[in-house]
Amino acid sequence: MLTFLFPLAALAGAVTAKSSSTAENVSACCSKLSETYPDQLVYAGEERFKDWNDRWAASAELPASCIFRPLTADDVSLAIKIIAKGAGQGCHDFCPFSIKCGGHTPWPGANNVDSGVAIDLGYMNQTVVADDKTSVTIGGGTRWHDAYESTDGDGIAFLGGRCPSTGVGGLTTGGGYSWFSGEHGFVSDTVINFEVVLGSGKVVNANKDTNADLFKALKGGSNNFGVVTHIEIAAFPHSQQVYGGLVIVPESSSDNVLAEFQHFTNDSTGFAANAGLTVEYFLPAEGEGQILLWLIDTDAEDDHATLQTFFDMEPKIVNQVYQTSIADYPTSIPPVTQVLMADVTFENDLDVIKAAFDITMEVRKTLSHVPNLVWDFQFEPLPRHFLKASQAAGGNVMGLDDVDKDLLILFLMPLWEDPEYDSDVRDAAELWFHKIQEYTQSVGKAHPFEFANYAASFQDPMGSYGAENLQFLKDVSHRYDPGQLFQRAVEGYKL
Ligand SMILES: Cc1cc2nc3c(=O)[nH]c(=O)nc-3n(C[C@H](O)[C@H](O)[C@H](O)COP(=O)(O)OP(=O)(O)OC[C@H]3O[C@@H](n4cnc5c(N)ncnc54)[C@H](O)[C@@H]3O)c2cc1C
Repeated sequence: MLTFLFPLAALAGAVTAKSSSTAENVSACCSKLSETYPDQLVYAGEERFKDWNDRWAASAELPASCIFRPLTADDVSLAIKIIAKGAGQGCHDFCPFSIKCGGHTPWPGANNVDSGVAIDLGYMNQTVVADDKTSVTIGGGTRWHDAYESTDGDGIAFLGGRCPSTGVGGLTTGGGYSWFSGEHGFVSDTVINFEVVLGSGKVVNANKDTNADLFKALKGGSNNFGVVTHIEIAAFPHSQQVYGGLVIVPESSSDNVLAEFQHFTNDSTGFAANAGLTVEYFLPAEGEGQILLWLIDTDAEDDHATLQTFFDMEPKIVNQVYQTSIADYPTSIPPVTQVLMADVTFENDLDVIKAAFDITMEVRKTLSHVPNLVWDFQFEPLPRHFLKASQAAGGNVMGLDDVDKDLLILFLMPLWEDPEYDSDVRDAAELWFHKIQEYTQSVGKAHPFEFANYAASFQDPMGSYGAENLQFLKDVSHRYDPGQLFQRAVEGYKL
């Protein structure tokens, strides 16, 4: 899927004699930005560079030429105008750039750029609650924990990341799975307005009345249309208290866990919309693996009946279940070194779940030579309840509008330490992805949806939304970005 960037240097040289080289363009972009914003730009080699270039996964760190931290949408606007012009000697001059919010996408290039301009939106991190408390407007570089902490005590809730250190910009434009999704759909379904800087540098709003096509495209369309500088998200009254946490059981409980997961994800067996569950297998290279059951009841006063089976599972290794505030729910995962994420979607059928589990364990064997590999994978429910809430919210672009089945996402997230094994793990993940797809297709239980937020660089989430949605995204891209800056100059899941 990663169509990025036919070799930029070759392009720059080939198209017109007046075009500048990529290096000239980047040097011009960095120095123009530095002149205007001396305190908001660092060059590679400067003392602050290492801190500014930090990512959740070391695997995502690339040697950008300079990092720019805008404070306002106008700063982003000027940066995009500079980037689109490059050294300005030919119509094909531009600077390769990247957009980073929470920096949680682990593949190199998703939120960073080798020898280009890295835009880090981290200073745009304010959260403002509307006077009537029906919405919050969040800066495009905010991490969810800051949004939750800023609104702690306001008596409201809104959809956002389950892992609070993930970013608002990336998670929302990639769709967004929240603990409140069972009741309200994807995070992007609850967006009221996106403020976006387009490829021309123009700052526009996109909502149901203004630029409605762009509004829809941004609900799953990732970084293909512009830099999102502010997002207004619907809020609703809430005690801000939830009940849940983490139960860890041994790997030997797997059969029981998978059966209960299937039951939980089956809408007709009583899935409560306010209950959330992620089943995470954490299998280190040595010793017995663990199954982490991330559990939540977003209604702390509820009887938690849907989750009781999981609370009661024995034997337990860890039992940390209690009432807590949304801001304190314990799911942050500390920074890691090498990590890869990939995902597939299929129907919630126990035989298929077990077969997918077996395939996942088989593929693990191909990596037995990778030192200290943690084979981590997660089952995440996408029951009809969730999908109907999403459909009722008015539509996104992810191709799930007509689904009337319980689905689930299987999300692979191996962790390792030595970059020498990057390509081995990537090959294994690709093999895993194709094997699961092949198998689920062969038994008629596949679904094409690839959740952008967990997708590997070899995946094509935008294509997985279906031909019609992909064409819609392409049309919107041409309408709002006629120069195709966001297709040519920034990496991501391109159209
Ligand atoms: C530990 C962990 C927990 C997670 N939990 C969840 C979860 O609960 N729910 C869920 O849905 N996903 C979850 N994810 C996946 C996560 O949503 C994606 O990795 C997402 O892309 C992260 O967004 P970010 O802003 O942190 O990442 P970044 O890597 O900064 O951005 C991701 C992509 O979005 C683009 N982007 C970021 N900000 C903007 C912007 N303002 N305008 C335009 N483009 C932008 C970037 O260019 C990049 O391509 C989790 C991931 C991890 C590692």
